[in-house]
Amino acid sequence: MPQALTEREQQVLDYVVEYLQRNSFQPSIREIGRALGIRSTRSVSHLLGVLSEKGWIARDKPRSRGIRLLPVALGETEPGVSVGPGPDFEEQQPGDAMWMQRALEQARAAVLVDEVPVGAVLVHGDRLICEAYNLTRTIADPTVHAEMVVMRAAAARLGTNRLVDATLYVTLEPCAMCAGAVVLAKVTRVVYGASDPKTGMCGSLGCIAQDRRLNHRARITRGVLAGPSGDLLRDFFVARR
Ligand code: ZN
Repeated sequence: MPQALTEREQQVLDYVVEYLQRNSFQPSIREIGRALGIRSTRSVSHLLGVLSEKGWIARDKPRSRGIRLLPVALGETEPGVSVGPGPDFEEQQPGDAMWMQRALEQARAAVLVDEVPVGAVLVHGDRLICEAYNLTRTIADPTVHAEMVVMRAAAARLGTNRLVDATLYVTLEPCAMCAGAVVLAKVTRVVYGASDPKTGMCGSLGCIAQDRRLNHRARITRGVLAGPSGDLLRDFFVARR
């Protein structure tokens, strides 16, 4: 069983995995250092040594560039054997409740137009970039979940397809599509309210946003204003039964 990695070690492993998926040759120590802003080649070598000791990579020739990814680094494992820790939930942070309150206001606004009450807010640094509610009923499109709407709008507004340093606040746990988009957009953090045992893919049915086989993992905090977020959805569906 491989040992847990520090954030820095994980970054090196992610870079090497990503690099080897793009190239048939290995990254040099210098390339790894440059990509991750590590000045000393000795530090990079040391980190690779740690990855090897912790059971994530093998170094065929310790003094050369020889890096071989062990299957576990690619998330490959025997059926039924889980790799690494499960979803890793972070504690709520200052400001989370305030932004979630804003997402909740969006969800409440959705009810007024007979839309499924899920609201989302995207924050970049400390700045609100956009907020939205679900639009699936309004425009008859199954893909316009609140998260998708804010991620698209934020990317357009920021002029980039990578929402690095962004936090996505959403009143309901993201589904497979939205969690997938979080990975594609490289959203740094996801904070959600109510868990969704039927379609949630950020902890309930699985955790796409932290799947080690993918090239990005988001930090996740759950349960922020979960009560009112869940009540709003329950009331909405009860009223329409
Ligand atoms: Zn979704």
